[in-house]
Order: sequence, then C-alpha cells, then structure tokens
Amino acid sequence: MEFETVIGLEVHAQLKTRSKLFCGCAVRFAEEPNRDVCPVCLGLPGVLPVLNRAVIDLAIRLGLATRCDIRRKSRFARKNYFYPDLPKGYQISQFSQPICEGGFLEIDLGEGQTKRIGIERIHIEEDAGKLLHDETGAPLSRIDFNRGSVPLLEIVSRPELRTAEEAKAYLRRLRGILRYLGVSDADMEKGQMRCDINVSLRRPGQSAFGTRAEIKNVNSFRFVGLAILHEEKRQARILRHGGQVVQETRLFDSARGITLSMRSKEEAHDYRYFPDPDLVPLEISDEWLERVRDSLVELPDARKKRFVEEMGLSAYDAELLTRERDIADYYEAALAIHRSPKMVANWLLGELLRESKGEGGFDPPVEPRRLAELVALIEGGLISGKIARKVFGIMLTSDLGPRRIVEKEGLSAIADPNKLGPMVEELLESEARNVEQYLAGKTRMMGFFVGRIMKETGGRADPKLLNELLRKALSRRGDSAQGR
Ligand code: ADP
Ligand code: MG
Ligand code: ZN
Repeated sequence: MEFETVIGLEVHAQLKTRSKLFCGCAVRFAEEPNRDVCPVCLGLPGVLPVLNRAVIDLAIRLGLATRCDIRRKSRFARKNYFYPDLPKGYQISQFSQPICEGGFLEIDLGEGQTKRIGIERIHIEEDAGKLLHDETGAPLSRIDFNRGSVPLLEIVSRPELRTAEEAKAYLRRLRGILRYLGVSDADMEKGQMRCDINVSLRRPGQSAFGTRAEIKNVNSFRFVGLAILHEEKRQARILRHGGQVVQETRLFDSARGITLSMRSKEEAHDYRYFPDPDLVPLEISDEWLERVRDSLVELPDARKKRFVEEMGLSAYDAELLTRERDIADYYEAALAIHRSPKMVANWLLGELLRESKGEGGFDPPVEPRRLAELVALIEGGLISGKIARKVFGIMLTSDLGPRRIVEKEGLSAIADPNKLGPMVEELLESEARNVEQYLAGKTRMMGFFVGRIMKETGGRADPKLLNELLRKALSRRGDSAQGR
C-alpha cells in the first residue's frame, strides 16, 4: 500500500422536534416558502431567543447512546459570517463547550468484524435558510427561511476511519441510532442528514496526519463513497509527484464524480466566536439527565446481540434485522404471534423486504400478524413453501388473512390418503415402464413421480404423505413382481 487514507466525518442531523431551536415556529417542510417564520428566526432587531428544551433532550439522548460525557454547564456561541441565507449575520452554535464529548460508536465491517470509531464532540446549532437560484439562469435568487433556525446536531468523528467502506458503515450505524432514538429521521435524500468528509493521506507507518481536504455537504451514501475514492486518487497523484495537498474546502460534483476546489479552509478565528449574550447559560440537572436516561431504548448493537443469543440467528441476519428500528420492531411483533425465529427472519428478509421498498424507508405491505400466521401455516403442514409464496402474493393486494385465502382459493395441502392414494395408483398404472425402471434400481424415478402428482395437484399434495404413499405403492408392485 502506497498511502493510508485517514477520514473524519462531520455529520449534521436535523432534529425531530415540533418547533425550531429558539422560537415557536413549526418545523415542517414542503410547505409554502417563508410560511414558518417569525421575528426571532428572521433575526429582526430587538428580539430574544428562547431555547427549546426538547432539543436538549434529544442531544442528551444521542450523547448517552454514543457513550459521550454530557457537559452539565454550557454556553451557546455566535459564529459570525455573512451569507444571504443567514439573516442575523451569525449562527448560534456551540464552540468551546459542546454538549457532548468523547464517545464512540461501533461499526460493522462484515464477517463478524467490528471497529470502534471515536466521536470527538456533538454540538447543537441552528440551520440556515435555503437559497433557490433561478433555474433558467436569470440573475435571480430567492430565499426560503422555513429551514432557518431549525435545530441541528453536528456529530464530529475522530479521524479514525480508513476506507470509503468504513465511512459508509459509520454513517449507516449513525443513521440507525438517530432513528432508533427518535432524534432524527436522518433521511439523506431529504437533507435531514448531511455529511462533510475530511480526507488526508499518509505513508504507512507515518504517525503524523497529512494535510486534509474537506468535502462539504455530500448527500447520499453512494456519493460519500465516490467522493472519498476520487479524493484518494487526487491526493495520491499530488503526493507522488512531491507536491503538497492544500488544506481547503471542496465540493463533490456528483454528475462528474469528482471533487472541486471551493474555497481555502477557514479557521476558527475567522468566525470571531463569542458567547451569545442573549441566551442564559444552559444547566442540566441530575434529574434532567436521569429522566432522559430512563427514556433510552435498546440500541442496534444490543438488539443485534440479543437476536443472536436469544433467537439463534446468524450475526449476518441479526445485522440486517436490526439496522433499522422499524424492521426490528416488525420482526419482534411477528415473533410475538408465532415464535419461529429463523423462518420468520427468512420471510421477512426475503419476500417481505422485496415488497417493502418505501420512499426512504421500510413500508411493509403485510402486517406482522399475517406474516406470522403464514409461517405458522407452513410449519403446521397446511401449505408448502411454494403455495405460501402464492398466498403471500395474494395478501399484497387484499386484507384477508392467510388462512382465509387458503380456504377461499382452495390452496390447502391435500393430506388425505383417500384422495392422494387413488391418484398415486392411477399414475403408476399409466407409467408402467417407468415403474419397471424404478424397480430395476433407478430410484431417482421417485422425483419424477412426485413431480407428476405435484403438477396434477397444483403443488398442493402434502409432500410427506405423497412420498410415503408412493413408496408403499411401489414396493407393493415390487413384491408382486418378485412373487410372479
Ligand atoms: P473543522 O470544524 O475546522 O473542520 P475539526 O477540528 O472540528 O475542524 O475537525 C473536523 C473533522 O476533521 C473531524 O471529523 C476530524 O476527525 C477530521 N480530521 C482532522 N484532521 C484530519 C486529517 N488530517 N485527516 C482527515 N481527517 C481529519
Ligand atoms: Mg469542518
Ligand atoms: Zn420563528
């Protein structure tokens, strides 16, 4: 390996609160522009911000879940810069006193391998408005402030990621935790989770980090992977020729799959941070902290472990089932109705997921109860797996339960010897030559006989009974042939 890649991610997650960070304006989107605004979030002179308590709850929740220290006394800071989407001329953020520090999360590298990635800090800040540039190219831009002052958490990783795959695994894990905790919907496509990627290279064995470039605002997992790969190549080319990587901010051009220089890197002093004099210092009491601690739900890691231990699932299946909380909840709801961990997992991860590709999430077309009942029918021998897939297909477009569908469509297995017996006899009569071959030792003819009956019954013959009947009828014929 010529160079080792060093990656640190800064992720912005939009919090799932009803109102904004410092005013009562609603947080909702796809509404008419500039509808959810007021003098406070527009930064008009003379107004005073009031901190939204729910934001602190969510920040603490994420901090506890990622094993951070929660700072008990902190101040908000003003980060000063000018841009048209920032009406106050400064952003209220946290600088030297972030609410959470020094945690980690564990990423899954496949094949049972995990790695701990340190979290440097998590701080609270407000979002900016949105610029809408004229699409015809006219020199006109509009500003929508609905998003202005919506609460964000910025989650800053330590530079401990080494590959694009690790970076994606980190983002997947972080997204899972944000959703499990109800902190954020974290849908990258909707801009609820955005990522800045810091990348540098160094020679293997070198302990100091190289100079990094920071790629701003990448908005999909795939683009994160592509941006890192491109940046690795670009920096390697520079270093190989004895050049120096410039510390700068870059943009990822997704159409071309390359990163482009945007501006030289700003330093903290460029922002002239100072404590916001309009906000009182934030103090978190023991009771507050404990109240949030009590509200924590089981996280993906713990749930995955439990699925492996209690349900006997493979680590692979348990990972797939627990990545998204909705899927894990669905799984457990189905098991509560019919406790068959492996078979329910197979159906959920197979047929159901194939039909559940909702926009940005898990949107199952069949409720846990019906899936569980379907599995119970298979295990009870009422239907075969093949017929079950047919029943499942019908459930997708109807509200009927699987048992009703089986009855209505006449799909139940034929497990009555008085029905199957005569069919077997008739078949063997008409297949005298094949019966002879079977009796002469060509035992694989058995599959042929089974197939014929299955075809005749539309797959409904009970396989166990059918095999038994065939074997008996054939051996009877064998005996009489010998006696002749
Ligand atoms: P800033 O906010 O100015 O970008 P930070 O110190 O907050 O700076 O660091 C931002 C991110 O950059 C962190 O995720 C950190 O892990 C990462 N980082 C720092 N140094 C390097 C480096 N040499 N190579 C790659 N990532 C780095
Ligand atoms: Mg940065
Ligand atoms: Zn407002």
